[in-house]
Amino acid sequence: MSAPAKPKPVVQPWAEPFWEAARRQELHLQHCEDCHRAIHYPRVACPHCASTNLGWRRASGRGTIYSFTVVEANAPSAFTADIPYVVAIIRLEEGVQMLSNIVGSDPADLMCDMPVEVVFEPLDEEFTLPKFRPIS
Ligand SMILES: [Zn+2]
Repeated sequence: MSAPAKPKPVVQPWAEPFWEAARRQELHLQHCEDCHRAIHYPRVACPHCASTNLGWRRASGRGTIYSFTVVEANAPSAFTADIPYVVAIIRLEEGVQMLSNIVGSDPADLMCDMPVEVVFEPLDEEFTLPKFRPIS
């Protein structure tokens, strides 16, 4: 029996620019043109000032690990072959947080506040996933 396919992101229309940029291996964040703050996850209105005057800007791709967990075991799933893998909240330089994976490092070497940078992993022809690796 083959492993099940990994689930694909569910893309709301207002989040399409995020995924289009990721396909080009660029990290873009929604930006409020009225209060000038970055927004993540993408929304139809600014969570700070309720403005719908929102745009997109390329992010630096750098941040720090706010928190993380190492998945050592789970029920059989599409992710079983990846064990151990790291699920982390990344605090981006733009001031927003992003849930992602830390890759390219031994999980035992990770620490909170460690600087990381974005890398892109294609899931299929439609989706490329932003992930993060420690900056050496
Ligand atoms: Zn705003």
